[in-house]
Amino acid sequence: MNKMLKFVNIGKETPEKLGASNRKENFLEIYKEFIDSKAKEQASRCSQCGTPFCQVHCPLNNNIPDWLKLTAEGRLKDAYEISSATNSMPEVCGSICPQDRLCEGNCVIEQSGHGTVTIGAIEKFITNTAWENGWIEPIKPLSENKQSVGIIGAGPAGIAAAMELRKEGYQITLYDRYDRAGGLLIYGIPNFKLDKKIVLRRIKYLEKSKIKIVTNFEVGKDASLKDLKEKHDAILIATGVYKAREVDLPGSNLKNIFPAMNFLTASNKKGLGDTVKEFDNGTYNAEGKNIVVIGGGDTAMDCVRTAIRQKAKSVSCLYRRDKVNMPGSAREVANAEEEGVNFIWLSSPKSFEGKHQVEKVIINKMRLGEPDSSGRQTPKIIEGAEESLEADIVIKALGFDPENIPKLFNEQDLEVTKWGTIKTDLKNLKTNIEGVFAAGDIVRGASLVVWAIRDGRDAAKGISRYLKSLIKKNKAA
Ligand SMILES: Cc1cc2nc3c(=O)[nH]c(=O)nc-3n(C[C@H](O)[C@H](O)[C@H](O)COP(=O)(O)OP(=O)(O)OC[C@H]3O[C@@H](n4cnc5c(N)ncnc54)[C@H](O)[C@@H]3O)c2cc1C
Ligand code: SF4
Repeated sequence: MNKMLKFVNIGKETPEKLGASNRKENFLEIYKEFIDSKAKEQASRCSQCGTPFCQVHCPLNNNIPDWLKLTAEGRLKDAYEISSATNSMPEVCGSICPQDRLCEGNCVIEQSGHGTVTIGAIEKFITNTAWENGWIEPIKPLSENKQSVGIIGAGPAGIAAAMELRKEGYQITLYDRYDRAGGLLIYGIPNFKLDKKIVLRRIKYLEKSKIKIVTNFEVGKDASLKDLKEKHDAILIATGVYKAREVDLPGSNLKNIFPAMNFLTASNKKGLGDTVKEFDNGTYNAEGKNIVVIGGGDTAMDCVRTAIRQKAKSVSCLYRRDKVNMPGSAREVANAEEEGVNFIWLSSPKSFEGKHQVEKVIINKMRLGEPDSSGRQTPKIIEGAEESLEADIVIKALGFDPENIPKLFNEQDLEVTKWGTIKTDLKNLKTNIEGVFAAGDIVRGASLVVWAIRDGRDAAKGISRYLKSLIKKNKAA
Protein backbone atom coordinates (compact mmCIF):
# COMPACT_ATOMS: atom_id res chain seq x y z
CA MET A 1 0.00 0.00 0.00
CA ASN A 2 1.10 3.56 -0.72
CA LYS A 3 2.93 4.83 2.34
CA MET A 4 0.99 8.09 2.24
CA LEU A 5 -2.23 6.32 3.12
CA LYS A 6 -1.03 4.94 6.44
CA PHE A 7 -2.48 6.49 9.59
CA VAL A 8 -0.09 7.65 12.23
CA ASN A 9 -0.14 9.32 15.59
CA ILE A 10 1.45 12.69 15.14
CA GLY A 11 1.34 13.82 18.71
CA LYS A 12 -0.42 17.18 18.95
CA GLU A 13 -3.51 16.24 16.91
CA THR A 14 -5.69 14.30 19.35
CA PRO A 15 -8.54 12.13 18.05
CA GLU A 16 -10.99 14.43 19.89
CA LYS A 17 -9.62 17.41 17.97
CA LEU A 18 -9.94 15.50 14.75
CA GLY A 19 -13.37 14.09 15.56
CA ALA A 20 -11.90 10.64 14.92
CA SER A 21 -13.71 7.39 15.66
CA ASN A 22 -12.80 5.48 18.78
CA ARG A 23 -12.33 2.45 16.55
CA LYS A 24 -9.20 3.80 14.93
CA GLU A 25 -7.46 5.86 17.59
CA ASN A 26 -5.11 8.72 16.80
CA PHE A 27 -5.32 8.73 13.04
CA LEU A 28 -4.47 11.41 10.57
CA GLU A 29 -3.48 11.06 6.97
CA ILE A 30 0.29 11.18 6.91
CA TYR A 31 0.58 13.78 4.16
CA LYS A 32 -0.26 16.52 6.69
CA GLU A 33 3.03 15.87 8.44
CA PHE A 34 4.85 14.99 5.27
CA ILE A 35 4.44 18.29 3.44
CA ASP A 36 6.01 20.40 6.15
CA SER A 37 9.27 18.49 6.40
CA LYS A 38 9.77 16.89 3.02
CA ALA A 39 8.49 19.19 0.26
CA LYS A 40 11.98 20.16 -0.88
CA GLU A 41 13.24 16.60 -0.80
CA GLN A 42 10.19 15.33 -2.71
CA ALA A 43 10.38 18.13 -5.29
CA SER A 44 14.01 17.26 -5.99
CA ARG A 45 12.90 13.73 -6.94
CA CYS A 46 11.38 15.16 -10.15
CA SER A 47 13.63 13.99 -12.97
CA GLN A 48 12.66 17.03 -15.16
CA CYS A 49 11.98 14.32 -17.72
CA GLY A 50 11.27 16.67 -20.61
CA THR A 51 8.00 14.87 -21.39
CA PRO A 52 5.80 16.34 -18.66
CA PHE A 53 2.93 13.84 -18.71
CA CYS A 54 1.99 15.21 -15.27
CA GLN A 55 1.35 18.62 -16.83
CA VAL A 56 -0.58 17.20 -19.78
CA HIS A 57 -2.85 15.24 -17.39
CA CYS A 58 -3.52 18.23 -15.14
CA PRO A 59 -6.80 19.84 -16.33
CA LEU A 60 -5.23 23.26 -15.68
CA ASN A 61 -2.08 22.35 -17.56
CA ASN A 62 -0.11 23.49 -14.50
CA ASN A 63 3.58 24.04 -15.14
CA ILE A 64 4.47 21.34 -12.60
CA PRO A 65 8.13 20.64 -13.55
CA ASP A 66 9.03 24.33 -13.18
CA TRP A 67 7.49 24.80 -9.76
CA LEU A 68 8.96 21.53 -8.55
CA LYS A 69 12.42 22.69 -9.64
CA LEU A 70 11.98 26.05 -7.87
CA THR A 71 10.76 24.29 -4.72
CA ALA A 72 13.77 21.97 -4.78
CA GLU A 73 15.98 25.09 -5.01
CA GLY A 74 14.13 26.67 -2.05
CA ARG A 75 12.71 29.48 -4.25
CA LEU A 76 9.18 29.14 -2.89
CA LYS A 77 7.95 32.62 -3.79
CA ASP A 78 8.85 32.05 -7.44
CA ALA A 79 7.29 28.58 -7.26
CA TYR A 80 4.09 30.17 -5.94
CA GLU A 81 4.03 32.76 -8.77
CA ILE A 82 4.21 30.01 -11.39
CA SER A 83 1.75 27.70 -9.67
CA SER A 84 -0.86 30.45 -9.14
CA ALA A 85 -0.56 31.69 -12.73
CA THR A 86 -2.64 28.74 -13.96
CA ASN A 87 -4.61 27.72 -10.87
CA SER A 88 -7.08 29.95 -8.99
CA MET A 89 -7.01 27.78 -5.84
CA PRO A 90 -3.83 25.67 -5.78
CA GLU A 91 -4.19 25.05 -2.02
CA VAL A 92 -7.59 23.42 -2.68
CA CYS A 93 -6.55 21.32 -5.69
CA GLY A 94 -3.38 20.22 -3.91
CA SER A 95 -5.62 18.87 -1.11
CA ILE A 96 -8.47 17.22 -2.98
CA CYS A 97 -7.66 16.52 -6.63
CA PRO A 98 -7.68 12.77 -7.29
CA GLN A 99 -3.97 13.02 -8.14
CA ASP A 100 -3.72 9.26 -8.64
CA ARG A 101 -5.93 9.68 -11.74
CA LEU A 102 -4.40 12.99 -12.90
CA CYS A 103 -0.90 14.44 -12.45
CA GLU A 104 0.67 11.91 -10.08
CA GLY A 105 -0.77 8.88 -11.88
CA ASN A 106 1.16 10.03 -14.97
CA CYS A 107 4.49 10.86 -13.31
CA VAL A 108 7.21 8.91 -15.15
CA ILE A 109 8.86 8.03 -11.84
CA GLU A 110 5.58 6.43 -10.70
CA GLN A 111 5.35 4.55 -13.96
CA SER A 112 8.88 3.22 -13.61
CA GLY A 113 7.85 1.79 -10.24
CA HIS A 114 9.64 4.19 -7.88
CA GLY A 115 6.63 6.01 -6.45
CA THR A 116 5.30 9.31 -7.75
CA VAL A 117 6.61 12.72 -6.83
CA THR A 118 3.84 13.90 -4.48
CA ILE A 119 2.81 16.82 -6.67
CA GLY A 120 -0.48 17.69 -4.93
CA ALA A 121 1.07 17.88 -1.46
CA ILE A 122 3.84 20.14 -2.78
CA GLU A 123 1.36 22.40 -4.59
CA LYS A 124 -0.60 22.81 -1.34
CA PHE A 125 2.61 23.43 0.62
CA ILE A 126 3.77 26.17 -1.78
CA THR A 127 0.45 28.04 -1.55
CA ASN A 128 0.08 27.65 2.21
CA THR A 129 3.61 29.02 2.58
CA ALA A 130 2.61 31.95 0.34
CA TRP A 131 -0.43 32.69 2.55
CA GLU A 132 1.64 32.43 5.73
CA ASN A 133 4.26 34.83 4.37
CA GLY A 134 1.77 37.40 3.11
CA TRP A 135 2.77 36.91 -0.53
CA ILE A 136 -0.89 36.65 -1.58
CA GLU A 137 -2.26 40.17 -2.00
CA PRO A 138 -5.90 41.02 -2.78
CA ILE A 139 -6.52 41.64 -6.48
CA LYS A 140 -5.85 45.25 -7.47
CA PRO A 141 -6.75 45.80 -11.14
CA LEU A 142 -4.64 48.32 -13.05
CA SER A 143 -7.82 50.28 -13.76
CA GLU A 144 -11.50 49.93 -12.91
CA ASN A 145 -13.98 49.01 -15.61
CA LYS A 146 -17.65 50.03 -15.31
CA GLN A 147 -18.98 46.87 -16.92
CA SER A 148 -20.41 44.35 -14.46
CA VAL A 149 -20.82 40.59 -14.36
CA GLY A 150 -23.35 38.69 -12.25
CA ILE A 151 -22.20 35.19 -11.35
CA ILE A 152 -24.85 32.75 -10.12
CA GLY A 153 -23.19 30.20 -7.84
CA ALA A 154 -20.17 30.83 -5.59
CA GLY A 155 -18.59 27.38 -5.98
CA PRO A 156 -15.14 26.82 -7.53
CA ALA A 157 -16.32 27.62 -11.09
CA GLY A 158 -17.92 30.91 -10.03
CA ILE A 159 -15.00 31.86 -7.79
CA ALA A 160 -12.37 31.15 -10.47
CA ALA A 161 -14.30 33.23 -13.03
CA ALA A 162 -14.80 36.06 -10.49
CA MET A 163 -11.07 36.25 -9.75
CA GLU A 164 -10.03 36.28 -13.41
CA LEU A 165 -12.60 38.94 -14.35
CA ARG A 166 -11.78 41.11 -11.34
CA LYS A 167 -8.12 41.15 -12.41
CA GLU A 168 -9.35 42.93 -15.54
CA GLY A 169 -11.19 45.52 -13.45
CA TYR A 170 -14.78 44.31 -14.02
CA GLN A 171 -17.36 44.81 -11.23
CA ILE A 172 -18.30 41.35 -10.01
CA THR A 173 -21.23 40.14 -7.92
CA LEU A 174 -21.41 36.51 -6.83
CA TYR A 175 -24.93 35.34 -5.92
CA ASP A 176 -25.44 32.18 -3.90
CA ARG A 177 -28.48 30.54 -2.35
CA TYR A 178 -26.47 29.16 0.57
CA ASP A 179 -25.64 31.28 3.60
CA ARG A 180 -21.90 30.95 2.84
CA ALA A 181 -19.91 31.10 -0.39
CA GLY A 182 -17.77 28.13 -1.50
CA GLY A 183 -20.32 25.72 -3.02
CA LEU A 184 -19.41 22.09 -2.45
CA LEU A 185 -16.05 23.18 -1.05
CA ILE A 186 -17.89 24.48 2.01
CA TYR A 187 -20.94 22.21 2.44
CA GLY A 188 -20.19 19.06 0.39
CA ILE A 189 -16.57 18.00 0.86
CA PRO A 190 -15.92 17.09 4.52
CA ASN A 191 -13.50 18.98 6.73
CA PHE A 192 -11.14 16.02 7.13
CA LYS A 193 -10.45 16.18 3.36
CA LEU A 194 -10.50 19.95 2.98
CA ASP A 195 -10.04 22.17 6.02
CA LYS A 196 -12.81 24.79 5.93
CA LYS A 197 -10.36 27.42 7.15
CA ILE A 198 -8.72 27.16 3.72
CA VAL A 199 -12.03 27.89 1.99
CA LEU A 200 -12.99 30.73 4.35
CA ARG A 201 -9.57 32.33 3.86
CA ARG A 202 -10.15 32.33 0.09
CA ILE A 203 -13.63 33.86 0.51
CA LYS A 204 -12.19 36.65 2.65
CA TYR A 205 -9.61 37.25 -0.07
CA LEU A 206 -12.43 37.63 -2.66
CA GLU A 207 -14.12 40.23 -0.46
CA LYS A 208 -10.83 42.11 0.01
CA SER A 209 -10.48 42.05 -3.78
CA LYS A 210 -13.80 43.95 -3.92
CA ILE A 211 -15.81 41.06 -5.31
CA LYS A 212 -19.33 41.47 -3.94
CA ILE A 213 -20.81 38.30 -2.45
CA VAL A 214 -24.58 38.12 -1.98
CA THR A 215 -25.58 35.02 -0.01
CA ASN A 216 -29.07 33.66 0.79
CA PHE A 217 -30.04 34.78 -2.71
CA GLU A 218 -31.67 32.14 -4.87
CA VAL A 219 -32.03 32.87 -8.55
CA GLY A 220 -35.45 31.57 -9.51
CA LYS A 221 -36.92 32.70 -6.20
CA ASP A 222 -35.36 36.05 -5.31
CA ALA A 223 -34.81 37.11 -8.94
CA SER A 224 -35.21 35.67 -12.41
CA LEU A 225 -32.41 35.38 -14.94
CA LYS A 226 -34.03 38.28 -16.82
CA ASP A 227 -33.86 40.48 -13.69
CA LEU A 228 -30.13 39.80 -13.35
CA LYS A 229 -29.54 40.37 -17.06
CA GLU A 230 -31.01 43.83 -16.70
CA LYS A 231 -28.63 44.56 -13.84
CA HIS A 232 -25.39 43.22 -15.35
CA ASP A 233 -23.61 43.34 -18.71
CA ALA A 234 -22.96 39.58 -18.65
CA ILE A 235 -24.09 36.61 -16.58
CA LEU A 236 -22.33 33.37 -15.68
CA ILE A 237 -24.40 30.40 -14.51
CA ALA A 238 -22.24 28.21 -12.24
CA THR A 239 -24.90 26.53 -10.14
CA GLY A 240 -23.52 22.98 -9.92
CA VAL A 241 -25.73 19.88 -9.88
CA TYR A 242 -27.88 19.18 -6.84
CA LYS A 243 -30.82 16.91 -7.77
CA ALA A 244 -30.03 13.73 -5.80
CA ARG A 245 -30.75 10.44 -7.57
CA GLU A 246 -33.48 8.56 -5.75
CA VAL A 247 -34.01 4.98 -4.58
CA ASP A 248 -37.63 4.07 -5.21
CA LEU A 249 -38.13 0.76 -3.39
CA PRO A 250 -40.62 -0.68 -0.91
CA GLY A 251 -40.10 1.15 2.39
CA SER A 252 -38.04 3.97 0.92
CA ASN A 253 -40.33 6.56 2.55
CA LEU A 254 -39.51 5.30 6.08
CA LYS A 255 -37.94 7.80 8.45
CA ASN A 256 -34.13 8.07 8.63
CA ILE A 257 -33.54 7.36 4.94
CA PHE A 258 -32.14 10.55 3.43
CA PRO A 259 -29.86 11.98 0.72
CA ALA A 260 -26.09 12.29 1.20
CA MET A 261 -26.07 16.10 0.94
CA ASN A 262 -28.41 16.47 3.96
CA PHE A 263 -25.98 14.43 6.04
CA LEU A 264 -22.80 16.10 4.74
CA THR A 265 -24.19 19.65 4.92
CA ALA A 266 -25.34 19.16 8.53
CA SER A 267 -21.94 17.77 9.48
CA ASN A 268 -20.07 20.60 7.73
CA LYS A 269 -22.31 23.27 9.29
CA LYS A 270 -21.76 21.74 12.72
CA GLY A 271 -18.00 21.75 12.10
CA LEU A 272 -18.24 25.46 11.22
CA GLY A 273 -19.83 26.12 14.62
CA ASP A 274 -23.46 26.57 13.47
CA THR A 275 -26.46 25.37 15.46
CA VAL A 276 -27.94 22.57 13.38
CA LYS A 277 -31.29 21.41 14.73
CA GLU A 278 -31.38 18.19 12.69
CA PHE A 279 -27.93 17.25 13.92
CA ASP A 280 -28.58 18.15 17.55
CA ASN A 281 -31.86 16.17 17.62
CA GLY A 282 -29.97 13.14 16.28
CA THR A 283 -31.49 12.97 12.77
CA TYR A 284 -28.21 13.57 10.93
CA ASN A 285 -25.88 12.38 13.68
CA ALA A 286 -24.41 8.89 13.22
CA GLU A 287 -23.10 8.48 16.77
CA GLY A 288 -23.85 5.04 18.22
CA LYS A 289 -25.93 4.02 15.19
CA ASN A 290 -25.77 1.41 12.44
CA ILE A 291 -25.23 3.37 9.24
CA VAL A 292 -25.80 1.99 5.74
CA VAL A 293 -24.60 4.07 2.79
CA ILE A 294 -25.81 3.16 -0.71
CA GLY A 295 -23.42 4.02 -3.56
CA GLY A 296 -19.81 3.60 -4.62
CA GLY A 297 -18.64 7.07 -5.64
CA ASP A 298 -16.66 9.73 -3.84
CA THR A 299 -19.79 11.14 -2.17
CA ALA A 300 -20.48 7.70 -0.67
CA MET A 301 -16.88 7.56 0.57
CA ASP A 302 -17.27 10.99 2.18
CA CYS A 303 -20.45 9.79 3.93
CA VAL A 304 -18.93 6.57 5.30
CA ARG A 305 -15.80 8.37 6.50
CA THR A 306 -17.89 11.14 8.12
CA ALA A 307 -20.04 8.50 9.89
CA ILE A 308 -16.87 6.83 11.21
CA ARG A 309 -15.68 10.17 12.60
CA GLN A 310 -19.08 10.72 14.25
CA LYS A 311 -18.46 7.44 16.15
CA ALA A 312 -21.11 5.31 14.44
CA LYS A 313 -21.65 1.83 15.88
CA SER A 314 -21.17 0.28 12.44
CA VAL A 315 -20.75 1.69 8.93
CA SER A 316 -21.58 -0.41 5.86
CA CYS A 317 -21.39 0.55 2.21
CA LEU A 318 -23.53 -1.24 -0.37
CA TYR A 319 -22.30 -1.22 -3.94
CA ARG A 320 -23.85 -3.19 -6.79
CA ARG A 321 -20.62 -3.94 -8.65
CA ASP A 322 -17.29 -5.22 -7.28
CA LYS A 323 -14.37 -3.30 -5.82
CA VAL A 324 -12.51 -3.06 -9.14
CA ASN A 325 -15.50 -1.33 -10.70
CA MET A 326 -16.09 1.23 -7.94
CA PRO A 327 -16.45 4.70 -9.49
CA GLY A 328 -14.86 6.35 -6.44
CA SER A 329 -11.15 7.10 -6.18
CA ALA A 330 -9.15 3.97 -5.21
CA ARG A 331 -7.34 6.09 -2.63
CA GLU A 332 -10.63 7.06 -0.96
CA VAL A 333 -11.84 3.43 -0.89
CA ALA A 334 -8.53 2.34 0.67
CA ASN A 335 -8.84 5.08 3.30
CA ALA A 336 -12.40 4.01 4.13
CA GLU A 337 -11.42 0.33 4.40
CA GLU A 338 -8.55 1.20 6.67
CA GLU A 339 -10.87 3.20 8.93
CA GLY A 340 -13.13 0.20 9.42
CA VAL A 341 -15.92 0.60 6.85
CA ASN A 342 -17.64 -2.67 6.00
CA PHE A 343 -17.89 -2.81 2.20
CA ILE A 344 -20.56 -5.15 0.88
CA TRP A 345 -19.69 -5.46 -2.81
CA LEU A 346 -22.07 -6.90 -5.40
CA SER A 347 -25.12 -5.96 -3.40
CA SER A 348 -28.06 -3.71 -3.99
CA PRO A 349 -30.98 -2.73 -1.72
CA LYS A 350 -34.22 -4.64 -2.42
CA SER A 351 -36.39 -3.03 0.25
CA PHE A 352 -36.31 -1.24 3.58
CA GLU A 353 -38.12 -2.56 6.67
CA GLY A 354 -39.14 -0.93 9.92
CA LYS A 355 -42.14 0.22 11.90
CA HIS A 356 -41.90 4.00 11.62
CA GLN A 357 -38.26 4.39 10.86
CA VAL A 358 -35.86 2.17 8.99
CA GLU A 359 -34.60 -0.85 10.96
CA LYS A 360 -33.31 -3.19 8.25
CA VAL A 361 -32.16 -3.15 4.65
CA ILE A 362 -32.98 -6.26 2.61
CA ILE A 363 -30.19 -6.78 0.10
CA ASN A 364 -30.16 -8.48 -3.28
CA LYS A 365 -26.85 -10.19 -4.04
CA MET A 366 -25.58 -9.43 -7.53
CA ARG A 367 -23.25 -10.87 -10.16
CA LEU A 368 -21.59 -9.08 -13.06
CA GLY A 369 -23.08 -9.88 -16.48
CA GLU A 370 -22.18 -8.84 -20.02
CA PRO A 371 -20.65 -5.38 -20.63
CA ASP A 372 -23.16 -2.67 -21.64
CA SER A 373 -22.64 -0.03 -24.39
CA SER A 374 -20.23 1.85 -22.11
CA GLY A 375 -18.09 -1.28 -21.72
CA ARG A 376 -18.94 -1.76 -18.02
CA GLN A 377 -20.28 -5.13 -16.89
CA THR A 378 -23.97 -4.93 -16.00
CA PRO A 379 -24.91 -6.00 -12.47
CA LYS A 380 -27.55 -8.79 -12.40
CA ILE A 381 -29.60 -9.96 -9.41
CA ILE A 382 -28.83 -13.51 -8.19
CA GLU A 383 -32.34 -14.88 -7.65
CA GLY A 384 -32.99 -16.14 -4.13
CA ALA A 385 -29.73 -14.76 -2.75
CA GLU A 386 -30.81 -12.19 -0.18
CA GLU A 387 -29.31 -10.83 2.98
CA SER A 388 -30.54 -8.49 5.64
CA LEU A 389 -28.60 -5.73 7.36
CA GLU A 390 -29.49 -3.77 10.51
CA ALA A 391 -29.79 -0.04 9.88
CA ASP A 392 -30.69 2.98 12.01
CA ILE A 393 -29.84 5.39 9.19
CA VAL A 394 -29.68 4.82 5.43
CA ILE A 395 -27.84 7.42 3.36
CA LYS A 396 -28.52 7.60 -0.38
CA ALA A 397 -25.36 8.53 -2.29
CA LEU A 398 -26.24 7.58 -5.84
CA GLY A 399 -25.07 10.72 -7.60
CA PHE A 400 -26.57 13.99 -8.74
CA ASP A 401 -28.42 15.32 -11.78
CA PRO A 402 -28.93 18.95 -12.79
CA GLU A 403 -32.01 20.77 -11.61
CA ASN A 404 -34.39 22.06 -14.31
CA ILE A 405 -32.59 25.37 -14.82
CA PRO A 406 -34.74 26.79 -17.65
CA LYS A 407 -37.87 26.27 -15.51
CA LEU A 408 -36.22 27.40 -12.28
CA PHE A 409 -34.78 30.55 -13.85
CA ASN A 410 -37.96 31.26 -15.81
CA GLU A 411 -35.93 31.21 -19.04
CA GLN A 412 -37.54 28.46 -21.14
CA ASP A 413 -35.38 29.35 -24.17
CA LEU A 414 -32.15 28.39 -22.41
CA GLU A 415 -30.88 25.30 -24.23
CA VAL A 416 -29.97 22.20 -22.22
CA THR A 417 -28.65 18.77 -23.22
CA LYS A 418 -30.64 15.54 -22.92
CA TRP A 419 -29.10 15.17 -19.43
CA GLY A 420 -30.33 18.61 -18.36
CA THR A 421 -26.86 20.19 -18.29
CA ILE A 422 -26.59 23.63 -19.92
CA LYS A 423 -25.51 23.60 -23.58
CA THR A 424 -22.56 25.87 -24.27
CA ASP A 425 -20.25 26.69 -27.12
CA LEU A 426 -17.10 24.86 -25.99
CA LYS A 427 -14.85 27.63 -27.35
CA ASN A 428 -16.11 30.34 -25.00
CA LEU A 429 -18.74 28.67 -22.74
CA LYS A 430 -21.48 30.92 -24.16
CA THR A 431 -25.06 29.65 -23.91
CA ASN A 432 -27.63 30.30 -26.61
CA ILE A 433 -28.88 33.37 -24.68
CA GLU A 434 -27.08 36.62 -25.50
CA GLY A 435 -24.63 37.62 -22.74
CA VAL A 436 -25.18 34.45 -20.68
CA PHE A 437 -22.37 31.96 -20.09
CA ALA A 438 -22.20 28.73 -18.04
CA ALA A 439 -19.40 26.77 -16.35
CA GLY A 440 -18.61 23.91 -13.98
CA ASP A 441 -20.79 20.94 -13.03
CA ILE A 442 -23.91 22.54 -14.55
CA VAL A 443 -22.20 22.16 -17.94
CA ARG A 444 -20.19 18.94 -17.43
CA GLY A 445 -22.42 17.07 -14.98
CA ALA A 446 -20.95 16.05 -11.60
CA SER A 447 -17.19 16.33 -12.05
CA LEU A 448 -14.17 17.65 -10.16
CA VAL A 449 -13.12 20.90 -8.53
CA VAL A 450 -10.12 21.23 -10.85
CA TRP A 451 -12.40 21.02 -13.91
CA ALA A 452 -14.77 23.60 -12.42
CA ILE A 453 -11.81 25.96 -11.94
CA ARG A 454 -10.69 25.34 -15.50
CA ASP A 455 -14.19 26.11 -16.80
CA GLY A 456 -14.48 29.22 -14.65
CA ARG A 457 -11.21 30.53 -16.06
CA ASP A 458 -12.22 29.69 -19.63
CA ALA A 459 -15.63 31.32 -19.17
CA ALA A 460 -13.90 34.46 -17.82
CA LYS A 461 -11.93 34.70 -21.07
CA GLY A 462 -15.15 34.29 -23.11
CA ILE A 463 -16.97 36.90 -21.01
CA SER A 464 -14.11 39.37 -21.26
CA ARG A 465 -14.05 39.03 -25.06
CA TYR A 466 -17.82 39.51 -25.14
CA LEU A 467 -17.71 42.63 -22.95
CA LYS A 468 -14.96 44.15 -25.09
CA SER A 469 -17.04 43.47 -28.20
CA LEU A 470 -19.98 45.33 -26.59
CA ILE A 471 -17.79 48.42 -26.12
CA LYS A 472 -16.66 48.25 -29.75
CA LYS A 473 -20.28 47.90 -30.89
CA ASN A 474 -21.38 50.88 -28.78
CA LYS A 475 -18.54 53.01 -30.15
CA ALA A 476 -19.45 52.06 -33.71
CA ALA A 477 -23.16 52.80 -33.16
C1 LIG B 1 -19.69 15.08 -1.37
C2 LIG B 1 -18.82 15.51 -2.50
C3 LIG B 1 -17.45 15.33 -2.42
C4 LIG B 1 -16.63 15.73 -3.47
N1 LIG B 1 -15.29 15.55 -3.35
C5 LIG B 1 -14.48 15.98 -4.33
C6 LIG B 1 -13.08 15.83 -4.22
O1 LIG B 1 -12.58 15.28 -3.24
N2 LIG B 1 -12.30 16.32 -5.22
C7 LIG B 1 -12.82 16.95 -6.31
O2 LIG B 1 -12.06 17.40 -7.17
N3 LIG B 1 -14.17 17.07 -6.45
C8 LIG B 1 -15.00 16.60 -5.49
N4 LIG B 1 -16.36 16.75 -5.63
C9 LIG B 1 -16.88 17.41 -6.84
C10 LIG B 1 -16.74 18.94 -6.75
O3 LIG B 1 -17.12 19.39 -5.47
C11 LIG B 1 -17.57 19.61 -7.84
O4 LIG B 1 -17.21 19.09 -9.08
C12 LIG B 1 -17.34 21.13 -7.85
O5 LIG B 1 -17.62 21.70 -6.58
C13 LIG B 1 -18.22 21.80 -8.90
O6 LIG B 1 -18.06 23.17 -8.83
P1 LIG B 1 -19.21 24.18 -9.32
O7 LIG B 1 -18.69 25.53 -9.02
O8 LIG B 1 -19.59 23.83 -10.69
O9 LIG B 1 -20.49 23.85 -8.41
P2 LIG B 1 -20.73 23.85 -6.84
O10 LIG B 1 -19.49 23.65 -6.05
O11 LIG B 1 -21.82 22.88 -6.64
O12 LIG B 1 -21.26 25.31 -6.54
C14 LIG B 1 -22.48 25.76 -7.06
C15 LIG B 1 -23.02 26.87 -6.20
O13 LIG B 1 -24.19 27.39 -6.84
C16 LIG B 1 -25.16 27.69 -5.86
N5 LIG B 1 -26.49 27.69 -6.48
C17 LIG B 1 -27.13 26.64 -7.05
N6 LIG B 1 -28.33 27.04 -7.54
C18 LIG B 1 -28.44 28.37 -7.26
C19 LIG B 1 -29.44 29.33 -7.49
N7 LIG B 1 -30.59 29.02 -8.10
N8 LIG B 1 -29.24 30.61 -7.07
C20 LIG B 1 -28.09 30.94 -6.43
N9 LIG B 1 -27.10 30.05 -6.18
C21 LIG B 1 -27.27 28.79 -6.59
C22 LIG B 1 -24.99 26.60 -4.83
O14 LIG B 1 -25.52 27.00 -3.58
C23 LIG B 1 -23.47 26.42 -4.82
O15 LIG B 1 -22.87 27.23 -3.84
C24 LIG B 1 -17.21 16.32 -4.62
C25 LIG B 1 -18.58 16.47 -4.72
C26 LIG B 1 -19.39 16.07 -3.67
C27 LIG B 1 -20.88 16.21 -3.79
S1 SF4 C 1 -4.40 20.97 -10.06
FE1 SF4 C 1 -4.74 18.82 -9.49
S2 SF4 C 1 -4.09 17.64 -11.28
FE2 SF4 C 1 -3.21 19.72 -11.49
S3 SF4 C 1 -1.15 19.60 -10.54
FE3 SF4 C 1 -2.58 20.27 -8.95
S4 SF4 C 1 -3.18 18.36 -7.91
FE4 SF4 C 1 -2.31 17.76 -9.89
